[in-house]
Amino acid sequence: MSATQDLPGKVVTRFAPSPTGFLHIGGARTALFNWLFARHHGGEFHLRIEDTDRARSTEPAIAAILDGMTWLNLNWDGEVVYQFSRAARHAEVAHALLAAGHAYRCYATPEELTALREEQRAARQPMRYDGRWRDRTDWPNDADYVIRLKAPREGSVTIDDQVQGPVTVNNAELDDFVLLRSDGTPTYMLAVVVDDHDMGVTHVIRGDDHLNNAFRQLALIRAMQWPEPVYAHIPLIHGADGAKLSKRHGALGVDAYRDELGLLPEAVENYLLRLGWGHGDAEIITREEAVQWFELAGVGRSPSRFDIKKLENLNGHYLRAANDGRLVALIAGRVAAALGRELTDSDTSLLQRTMPELKKRANNLNDLAASSLFYLRSRPIPMDEGAAKLLASATPGLLDRARARFAAQDDWTAAALEQVARELAESEAAKLGQIAQPLRAAVTGSAQSPGLFEVLEVLGRQEVLGRIDDALAG
Ligand code: GLU
Repeated sequence: MSATQDLPGKVVTRFAPSPTGFLHIGGARTALFNWLFARHHGGEFHLRIEDTDRARSTEPAIAAILDGMTWLNLNWDGEVVYQFSRAARHAEVAHALLAAGHAYRCYATPEELTALREEQRAARQPMRYDGRWRDRTDWPNDADYVIRLKAPREGSVTIDDQVQGPVTVNNAELDDFVLLRSDGTPTYMLAVVVDDHDMGVTHVIRGDDHLNNAFRQLALIRAMQWPEPVYAHIPLIHGADGAKLSKRHGALGVDAYRDELGLLPEAVENYLLRLGWGHGDAEIITREEAVQWFELAGVGRSPSRFDIKKLENLNGHYLRAANDGRLVALIAGRVAAALGRELTDSDTSLLQRTMPELKKRANNLNDLAASSLFYLRSRPIPMDEGAAKLLASATPGLLDRARARFAAQDDWTAAALEQVARELAESEAAKLGQIAQPLRAAVTGSAQSPGLFEVLEVLGRQEVLGRIDDALAG
């Protein structure tokens, strides 16, 4: 029998992270695929926080997930569902299964179960519960019991996974797993199934580390005679070396991609989309296109490798396409921190004017912020090694004569200033570079910068002449 059935009506997906302190980059991709699938089908996308691990599910850990989702602009429908708050409902389902004979009380003690596992290990048998209380009714009074599912023992189950293809497991390999612990708390397996059902989830799209769980979950769904969702288990993301993505490959939390690497959400989204999903040769894909094109058939079966260089290049593309005012706002905090002071209105308007030039050269917000600092530093500005070298090897007297010409210049536009420099070069029988290089060093403190004459225009006459004076005096 196949797990897939044609579900009439609306598509409903969900993203169900457990709080760990951040939104995992792989989780973000799962969320994106669920979001896109729902939007593509005009359905709903829900967010469920699986906060049953009380020690880990702190307020900040939950806030980090919501923050990451918001940053990536993955808006969810309705209220966030908190799994822990639904514990009574989970217990109710376990008791309903018990009443219907699809579950049973198991009084096996932890010691007994440990002994069973030891025996199975010694006999090199798979370790699973043997069903010793499955058909018993001689229940002791006043002893603790758990509720276990009475899972089918004969036959097999096939899940027609939308990514993995049909996957079959023999029922003999699945044991009667616990639904409700002896303290009355639900297990993860029960909670997920009940919540998915109550939320009307039609498509379960998640990491393939959950494929094994799907067979147990399906047994539970069938015992309840609930509609079966369509499953799609996506291969996990691997690092560049082919091993499962982990801390040693770099940042795992989406917040680090934003704060430490200075990436834009649309670049991260585009990258995550292409990581494991494709549409022909398309690399740069807008959100509208993604919604239009996204189908589970485009999800690959093999794990994709995370390539930070590719992500950074893609970020460069989105940075150049981004609105200048937005970029100014995004780097303002970084710039203020580097300068050690608040930015003034004139600082921000200067950044705004120079942004078209600056963004041509940066691939992330950190570099963009760093490359803007020389504009805003107070005199005398620091000189890097390259700039110091250029000034030391400059033709003697040439920078002074350039200063005199600029001082006499009224039309302070990039084009006019370039003309001044060219005329000077001609009268000195020098190359333009002989003037431009020390000049660049003097006004930017570096051997590399955006177009020199644009820089002069943006800085203004007074500041330019002052910076040349500083360099001449140094
Ligand atoms: N809470 C699980 C996790 O974070 C996901 C459960 C599911 O998607 O079914 O791995």
